[in-house]
Amino acid sequence: MFDRIRLVLVATTLVLGAIACTTPSPPISQQTLTSPSLQPSANQTPAPQTPSVRVQIIDRPIKFTEQRKKLTLEYIRLHYDPKATDISIDPRTIVIHWTDTPSLSATFNTFDPELLAGRPELIKGGAVNVSAQFVIDRDGKIYRLMPETRLARHVIGLNHTAIGIENVGAEKFPLTPQQLTANTNLVRYLVQKYPKIRFLIGHYEYQKFRGSSLWKELLPGYITYKSDPSPDFMKKLRAKLNDLNLCQEPKCQ
Ligand SMILES: [Zn+2]
Repeated sequence: MFDRIRLVLVATTLVLGAIACTTPSPPISQQTLTSPSLQPSANQTPAPQTPSVRVQIIDRPIKFTEQRKKLTLEYIRLHYDPKATDISIDPRTIVIHWTDTPSLSATFNTFDPELLAGRPELIKGGAVNVSAQFVIDRDGKIYRLMPETRLARHVIGLNHTAIGIENVGAEKFPLTPQQLTANTNLVRYLVQKYPKIRFLIGHYEYQKFRGSSLWKELLPGYITYKSDPSPDFMKKLRAKLNDLNLCQEPKCQ
């Protein structure tokens, strides 16, 4: 199931000494953190910084052919900019999720198809499938599914600014201590890489941004109600990231 892994970014520092880094299989390789193959073709966002915080990321890309690019652009035009010409984002927000699926493979199989299926509540919002830039497995391993600055469909109203971090878990399967550590490390890495990131929210908190300057949604009544990844998990995550002074609502913008 790991035959699609094509790139592994490896680095550990004393800061991340606690991350669960066993020797992965297949063998991993040392790469810089800005692989050209992972950059969007039309990236209008500021150049990312090189983080001093490093984190082990395994690239396992979902299908993102010309069809998904076309569907993503259609989504952007429908939801917030009828004149949009590219699918890149300017990261200002990180949104934490749980997958509601039981395994990494089930999660990958959910996000990999380019067309949305089996989500009648979302279909009026466009045909591109849901996805996220990252997914973290129960053991804390971090997988990157798509370029960080390409739009993923994971949070209504905020997709144009938001990097999504999914975690394999559900209400019946609360997120693990390893996932808490991995989320902490990944958020630190992303905040250093994209200094404009000021917001960290759980998916269940996203409606707080309705009416703010960050919120973009043109479809009336297009809204969902979420509970992931639980207030308990966000409380623990924020406690570990207190020093970053990230905001959880638009008023501290
Ligand atoms: Zn979610």
